[in-house]
Amino acid sequence: MAVKIVEDLCTSCGDCEPECPTASISPKRGVFVVKESTCTECEPDYDSPKCMDVCDVDDCIVYA
Ligand code: SF4
Ligand code: SF4
Repeated sequence: MAVKIVEDLCTSCGDCEPECPTASISPKRGVFVVKESTCTECEPDYDSPKCMDVCDVDDCIVYA
C-alpha cells in the first residue's frame, strides 16, 4: 500500500513533504518522490492520505 507522485505534474512546491507522518516524501532530481516501502497511505495516522489532501495539483498524487 502506497501512493506515488506523478512526476510530470509535480511542481516541486514541497508542501507535501513536511506533512508525511512516515517521512516518506523527499526531493529527487527536481521533483518530489514517495518511498513506497515506508508509505502507509497514512494509516492509522489520518483518515486519508495527507499528501493528497495538501497537494494543490489535481491527480498529482495517486494510489500506486
Ligand atoms: S504538494 Fe504536490 S506539487 Fe507540491 S511537491 Fe508535493 S506532489 Fe509535488
Ligand atoms: S500517503 Fe501518507 S504516508 Fe504515504 S507519502 Fe503520503 S503523507 Fe506519507
